Amino acid sequence: MRVVPLFRNDPSDYSCVSYWLLGENNHASDRNTLLDTGSAHPDNLSFMLREMALWPKGIGKRAVEQIILTHAHFDHTGGLPGLDGLLGPITYAWLPSGQQHRPVQDGQAVTVGDQPGILLHTPGHSEDSICLFLPETGTLFSGDTLYRITDHLGSYPQAYVNSLERLAELNIKTIYPGHGHPIAQGAVGFIRTCLDNVHHSLIHG
Ligand SMILES: [Zn+2]
Repeated sequence: MRVVPLFRNDPSDYSCVSYWLLGENNHASDRNTLLDTGSAHPDNLSFMLREMALWPKGIGKRAVEQIILTHAHFDHTGGLPGLDGLLGPITYAWLPSGQQHRPVQDGQAVTVGDQPGILLHTPGHSEDSICLFLPETGTLFSGDTLYRITDHLGSYPQAYVNSLERLAELNIKTIYPGHGHPIAQGAVGFIRTCLDNVHHSLIHG
């Protein structure tokens, strides 16, 4: 699996990190995937297409055959209409999104690049949040579900606690979050520390 983070570092644009996911050897059976599309900023689409032009995508294959949206916030989904128009991908998302939407069920299997993946419904940051987990490599694409929680001052819905508890049970080696850098070491410890701090914080219905 090749994971290509796509992020246009522009202080005037609030956008997530998108991840372009490709098979290692460009087999015809690979599913070229974009996880989150970034914001609707007009420069984002051309930036992504430029970056994608630099990599082999498989003969006759589109750069993006499917999109996975971790949730519907604007900084993750704004680029969808432009990509839809140009590349016509299938879109997996919890809520109806894109021209070729595929509804997501918790635990749904999906091929990503050259690996089997599982889509997990992890509500909390938003009702519609999902994560993509690749069990073969212990890779988690967490959208906005995971972020560093270092104190007991926050207030969290019970659904979020449940989602963190679930993620803490997975054998995760690398986390690719929706914002910031990947966590390549101590991923499980990172989640358990966040969860511990959440357990000591205010939890509401
Ligand atoms: Zn968000």
